[in-house]
Amino acid sequence: MAQSIWLTNNIKSFDSLNESLETDVTIVGGGITGILSAYLLSENGVQVVLLERGRLLHGTTGHTTAKVTAQHGLIYNELMEHFGLENTQKYYQSQVEAIQFIKRMTEQYQIACQFDQQDAILYTNSDQNYKKLEDEANAYQKLNISADLMKEIPFEIPHKAALTMRQQAQFHPTDFLKVIIDKIIENGGKIYENTTAVDIDYQNKVTLRTARNHNVLSDNVIVATQFPFYEGQAFYSTRMYPSRSYVIGLTSNRDYPGGMYLDVDQPKRSIRYVKQKDETIWLLGGESHKTGQYKKENTNPYRDLQSFGSQYLDVKDWHYKWSTQDYTTLDKLPYIGSLNKRHPNVYVATGFRKWGMTNSVVAAHLLTDLIMNRDNPYKELYKPQRFHADPDVKKFISYNSNVTKELVKGKLSVNNKHEHLEPKTATKTNHNGQTIGIYKDERHQLHAVDTTCTHLGCECNWNHADKSWDCPCHGSRFSYDGTIIEGPATKHLKKFDLEN
Ligand SMILES: Cc1cc2nc3c(=O)[nH]c(=O)nc-3n(C[C@H](O)[C@H](O)[C@H](O)COP(=O)(O)OP(=O)(O)OC[C@H]3O[C@@H](n4cnc5c(N)ncnc54)[C@H](O)[C@@H]3O)c2cc1C
Repeated sequence: MAQSIWLTNNIKSFDSLNESLETDVTIVGGGITGILSAYLLSENGVQVVLLERGRLLHGTTGHTTAKVTAQHGLIYNELMEHFGLENTQKYYQSQVEAIQFIKRMTEQYQIACQFDQQDAILYTNSDQNYKKLEDEANAYQKLNISADLMKEIPFEIPHKAALTMRQQAQFHPTDFLKVIIDKIIENGGKIYENTTAVDIDYQNKVTLRTARNHNVLSDNVIVATQFPFYEGQAFYSTRMYPSRSYVIGLTSNRDYPGGMYLDVDQPKRSIRYVKQKDETIWLLGGESHKTGQYKKENTNPYRDLQSFGSQYLDVKDWHYKWSTQDYTTLDKLPYIGSLNKRHPNVYVATGFRKWGMTNSVVAAHLLTDLIMNRDNPYKELYKPQRFHADPDVKKFISYNSNVTKELVKGKLSVNNKHEHLEPKTATKTNHNGQTIGIYKDERHQLHAVDTTCTHLGCECNWNHADKSWDCPCHGSRFSYDGTIIEGPATKHLKKFDLEN
């Protein structure tokens, strides 16, 4: 089933905004970050309005793998080298507090969301990464993280070593957040779906304009849209890149052995389980790549994940498949705080590097404290205006100069032969000097769009696996008929009429 397991429950729906409003804080983005921020502020008596472009929880949050852990891949040794022990301790501590918060909420509101303590395990089969795993284990020791470096994992997946972080957790994110949404409403918060924020006008107060030309006037705005829909000359486009990954849900003939796994070699594999009715669904994730950029034509990440599953996980049946994306910042730490000096009352929370179940909690607390003029120990660490000299910046710059290359490359490499297009495939063609993307649907109907991304003008590429036009620069994605699916773009791709 081409659907996320997290979106099979009934999530309450809300009307779109059809009038102008005034409130204390406007929150844009109905994922975990926006929802938790709205919850915490409304718990503190602050009036909130939450705006969501589509449906609540249908962004990355509804497509995550929802491990609730402070084990964020191989990161602590690297953070210690770049930011020192104290800052790394702060990062770890903020994530631990986030896990405790989710646990506390599930207990306080008795949320049936399968919150379940599990060990998080990194494993490797390469000598080079074995050394990195040892370095990471040493970093854990310095940070007093309860951990074990082991030789075995309970799978027949080739491996040489594994590093366990004890007592982490997993949960069902939308079952959890459905209850939090109810609390926002109980606290007097207002939620609007199918309402796209398109612009911000910054005077004494902040006026946020929606695509249907309604204004929301407030003292503060939180932009929780992953890539900020409004950049306010803060150059987030040059400071983050989007990466996409794929997940499949399967049943196995084996009992699930417990634990949440992440391969540190390439291609990465992530494994956890979730209960659904009487079945244990194993979630197998991986096949990450920069959004809109593919190493080979017709690449099929789902097929590659399935072949890994068939080889190592004793698959009984395939159930779900989905994909989603998240952003990584220049120094791998999230950006949480004021957009920039010129916009102190406009806040962002982004760059969670695929670890947003805890980072969103950190963000919601930090932004609530900033808005309520309270101190927060993590303010400086996550401040978007920081600049940390990081050796990886060089790699990042080459990643991002790739944005310019993609812009030019995309405009040149077009294929003029769409006559022989197979159903459910797409190609690009040149029409009167303009690049047009053409998709042939299962009824042989052609759909033509201008493949120039409406965000900053990069050239979108066809995503064979998900049947979408994906922007390789900042991660905007559009369906085959040009409708926005996700990312920073606020306008659909231009459509063309073709003689079918
Ligand atoms: C494959 C994958 C697996 C992951 N697994 C894990 C994991 O196991 N553990 C973990 O901690 N993290 C994981 N993550 C990361 C985590 O899922 C994300 O960091 C988190 O869900 C981001 O939440 P968010 O609320 O910031 O963004 P989203 O959930 O994407 O919400 C943003 C919302 O903003 C809306 N929006 C966008 N633009 C506008 C606009 N202009 N106006 C109004 N609304 C707008 C969107 O429609 C969307 O609903 C994973 C990420 C990926 C890609």
